[in-house]
Amino acid sequence: MTAEILDGKKVAEEIRAGLKREVAIMKQKPGLAAIILGNDPASRIYMNIKHKACAEVGIQSELYELPETTTEAELLRLIRKLNNNTEIHGILVQLPLPKHVKEQHVFAAIAVEKDVDGLNERNMGRLMAGDEKIVPCTPKGIIRLLEHYRIKIEGQNAVVVGASNVVGRPTALMLLNRNATVSLCHIKTGNLAEYTKPADILVVAAGSPCLIKAGMVKDGVVVIDVGINRVGNKIIGDVDFEAVREKASYITPVPGGVGPMTVAMLLENTVEACKNCAK
Ligand code: NAD
Repeated sequence: MTAEILDGKKVAEEIRAGLKREVAIMKQKPGLAAIILGNDPASRIYMNIKHKACAEVGIQSELYELPETTTEAELLRLIRKLNNNTEIHGILVQLPLPKHVKEQHVFAAIAVEKDVDGLNERNMGRLMAGDEKIVPCTPKGIIRLLEHYRIKIEGQNAVVVGASNVVGRPTALMLLNRNATVSLCHIKTGNLAEYTKPADILVVAAGSPCLIKAGMVKDGVVVIDVGINRVGNKIIGDVDFEAVREKASYITPVPGGVGPMTVAMLLENTVEACKNCAK
């Protein structure tokens, strides 16, 4: 079996085109404030991609590029100012943050309705309770991709490798909310293959190149590779793509799978935040 490719790039383009049509007829245009601290090159690239994507669909985005030495108090002051700015409907803080700034404090400071990354503890709590209001962009993109290809989630054995707050945990919760039976694996999981082998749906977000080999999956598995790893001058995922593709029924490529869906979901969350604020 050679897997069908889950073409995140194509699906994301369709979503963006739809959002562009929607924004064109909105009286109040959605506004996104994107904050970045420091000069991490990868973070800057992601931020620029998001900034450009906003412009393409008609979202007004403001970029706040702050020095690495910005204190937590200064950052929180800016967030509070943006919370009160009626032209801004979404606030995005690019991760990772410098060590002296506590992620939890930052996400807690963002107004719940402007938390387009879905990382505020109230939005996380809602997700946990099965009430998905604003959910993190990567997990939302993964679910949207599965739904687009009409891949059954209910009753399936879903395994998520990686348990971060941004990707692994919320993905596991979203799969659970759709009635999959979910296992959540992480670095301390003893025998990873014991979990991955029976998976019907396998989501891998570990940041470990080629962690998942063909021998670790069963025939017909659906594989979502979230990993982004720079190896030499190539970007590869967490899955040994060529070998696993021969066993899977569906698989996401890296790049061109989950990445573009994440950006599309950020745009969608911002448009929805704007519509909700007009209600
Ligand atoms: P993270 O470092 O915060 O978390 C990694 C998780 O994977 C942890 O729970 C850790 O315990 C687990 N893990 C690490 N190595 C493991 C191993 N060998 N076996 C089992 N579990 C292991 O990372 P993150 O922010 O969740 O990102 C994960 C990967 O996804 C990274 O490569 C990141 O670049 C990528 N990412 C991609 C997108 C996208 O849109 N495509 C978005 C966010 C993150």
